[in-house]
Amino acid sequence: MRNYEWEAIVSCNTAFDGQFFYGVKTTNIFCRPSCRSRTPLRQNVQVNGSAEFFIHQGYRPCKRCQPDAEVLPDPKQHLIRNAKRLIEERYQEELTLQTLADSLYISPYYFHKTFKELAGKSPAQYVAEIRIAAAQALMNEGTYSIAEISSLTGFKKPSHFSRVFKRLTGESPSNFRQKVLK
Ligand SMILES: [Zn+2]
Repeated sequence: MRNYEWEAIVSCNTAFDGQFFYGVKTTNIFCRPSCRSRTPLRQNVQVNGSAEFFIHQGYRPCKRCQPDAEVLPDPKQHLIRNAKRLIEERYQEELTLQTLADSLYISPYYFHKTFKELAGKSPAQYVAEIRIAAAQALMNEGTYSIAEISSLTGFKKPSHFSRVFKRLTGESPSNFRQKVLK
């Protein structure tokens, strides 16, 4: 924690609301900087820019300053944001509906239904899009073979990679590669 953050907490400075939140380890509650609750001991305070961070760490939002009120307007939107982030971070691994749903602590059925409803596509389609975008970026670098790119972007077999690539871009990986390398 930086000094100005601590000063904002001590002085209940509203100017810093939304910029960061603070959690108190001894009470497991997190607050906005402006909260008028009793000033905690500095050594027990943890600061983070995101309210979600504290929720994931198991902190409860303070009833007085309600630090979760604006950041989590809709739990479904929140779920989709987390799901997309998860896919963007882990597209190189084997991702199934089951592994994604497990990571989000929800049922595969609910995950698939909610994702499709809010994102307008299935989770599998989103995984494919992220992988193919990553593959195109690697092809632009020009240093990897198609088989290498296939495995670097989470495909088990180059033939599967080629099929998905063609479905999403309208051309085969080798055609695309020839174009970008010219
Ligand atoms: Zn508070």
